[in-house]
Amino acid sequence: MVKIKSKVQTDVLVVGSGLSGIKVSKELADQNVKVLLVTKMQIASGSSFYPLKASLGTQVTKDEQDEEIFLHDIEKLSRGMHRHDLAEVYVNEIPDRVKEYQDIGVHAKKLEGERKACFAEHERDIYLLSDWDQIRENVRSIFGTYDNLSIMEKTIVLTLIKKDGRVAGAILLDENNEFVMVEAKAVILATGGFGSIYKHNLNPNDVDGSGHILALEAGARLVNMEYIQFIPGITTPKYKTLFGEHTLMYCDDIVDEAGNSILDPFLPEGLSKQECLEIRSTHGPFTHSLSSKYFDIAMMKNIIATHNEDGFRLLYRDELYENQEEFYTVYLNWLKERNIHLVEDEIRIAPFAHASNGGVYIDTYGRTGVNGLYAIGELSCNIEGANRLGGNSTGACMVFGKRAAMDCVQYTRKTDLIEITENEAAAQIEKMFGFHNPGKNLLQENHIEQKVHQVIDGIKEIMWYHGNVVRDEEGLSSAIEEIKKLEASLELGAFFEQQRNRKQMVKARNFLKLSQILLTSMLERRESRGAHYREDYQEEREEYNKRLFISMTEDETIEYHFLAQ
Ligand SMILES: Cc1cc2nc3c(=O)[nH]c(=O)nc-3n(C[C@H](O)[C@H](O)[C@H](O)COP(=O)(O)OP(=O)(O)OC[C@H]3O[C@@H](n4cnc5c(N)ncnc54)[C@H](O)[C@@H]3O)c2cc1C
Repeated sequence: MVKIKSKVQTDVLVVGSGLSGIKVSKELADQNVKVLLVTKMQIASGSSFYPLKASLGTQVTKDEQDEEIFLHDIEKLSRGMHRHDLAEVYVNEIPDRVKEYQDIGVHAKKLEGERKACFAEHERDIYLLSDWDQIRENVRSIFGTYDNLSIMEKTIVLTLIKKDGRVAGAILLDENNEFVMVEAKAVILATGGFGSIYKHNLNPNDVDGSGHILALEAGARLVNMEYIQFIPGITTPKYKTLFGEHTLMYCDDIVDEAGNSILDPFLPEGLSKQECLEIRSTHGPFTHSLSSKYFDIAMMKNIIATHNEDGFRLLYRDELYENQEEFYTVYLNWLKERNIHLVEDEIRIAPFAHASNGGVYIDTYGRTGVNGLYAIGELSCNIEGANRLGGNSTGACMVFGKRAAMDCVQYTRKTDLIEITENEAAAQIEKMFGFHNPGKNLLQENHIEQKVHQVIDGIKEIMWYHGNVVRDEEGLSSAIEEIKKLEASLELGAFFEQQRNRKQMVKARNFLKLSQILLTSMLERRESRGAHYREDYQEEREEYNKRLFISMTEDETIEYHFLAQ
């Protein structure tokens, strides 16, 4: 039988230590709730504290009059795919939440003047967060003052345990890959997005969608999973460096190896190259909703045709470095510290997976519909729809982190711990992985390690080519078949014997499930809308004015339903 190393009891288990996990943990601890914060890597990690970016912005409602305008901005961009109630909460509460950054050790500096955030039609206040190492130090020292808040780093949540119709705890794989059982009154998932399921992405490796699978398997629903943001990322001179799209205002063209414009062949009549680049300079992620879409479509179609992933060269004008606006200088100086000069160096870019608009379906308190289970931050399908306004994700971590904590405090006060036996925990792990057939020759440890890496890398490659900016029926269907083949090739039962490789096997298992969910969602939506572009259905279609919900039945079948919710 599986050996459980130890058992821990807590009021609330918080999973993830990005902005949302940190915010919710602090709020809970302030209310004398006992918190265990578990994080895959270290404290202050995830996309929130990704070292290869200069700063993060938070968009804040200007004043009372701006509330309606801000809501309208969100609604217009969402192409009907957002939730009005969540957006309303955001717009009303973000001005107060932004003042609370300092309480969690985050210095948020208001940008001089007002600016239009990515995709926003109106200017409003933007707060910039930066200096990730300092934040980490601050969080450690703030959290160190609480007796009721403990932290487990390099630990993952493997599965959630439900009893009596509610979440009762979880099983962890600790830093030594041993099983730890947690009894908790409630679990708050703050595990972020899933960008690292793509070969080229701008997320750290710990942002891998495991929370989506945890939530789905516990009975929560996912929605809007087909809306994934892809933004151009720098491939050369320093791979995976964040690209500031605002600099495209000073760009003359994007060219291939031979110096030929890749944009020219894709521009429709009436749209000049300069117009296309100017519109593209106003937003980071690709969207079908604006005529700048040809920029990203041109890149991706070239990559699909040539399989050349080196990226495309940008031709900048000198004037770029004459712009003294803070928004430019902060970014250009940050590049300078990394020895990158946009005019003097050869700069190449390609589409990188960036952030997910969809995720776990929640109410305005982060409740998932499963008793005792909350989802916050990028993991949840929050205020965004088919497109997401820039600067709302960080803000949503603060707004919904606070609200989830408020509700969870009340929930824990009227809830008791439920005992979970070692046998129950062991049975659940065995059900997840199935036992290795002892009659078979156990494959060599190295061989299994290799196989697991092959599966993970295979999925990343498939997702990057077929679940990227340009999608079509043929590519998506063949991608699903390829993933199924990879699934059949992996012997998950070896998980038990292979202690060293357990975390990677969990990742492979989750990737196999999540990739099929993503590809199927993209396949089901036979239209183009926002971040979802179908080469074979290039228009938005009225019959798809519905959101795509994903749930899991008792027998673990995944179901997809378009619903007008
Ligand atoms: C390059 C880039 C630029 C961005 N710019 C902006 C911006 O300017 N403005 C804006 O609003 N948003 C921006 N975003 C999006 C924003 O950063 C994220 O949506 C937000 O920070 C997510 O925070 P989070 O707490 O939900 O998740 P994350 O910060 O991603 O944290 C997830 C945490 O969960 C942990 N974890 C995951 N799975 C498990 C598991 N199974 N067990 C234990 N721990 C687990 C991870 O280790 C990590 O600690 C940007 C994103 C990127 C990548």
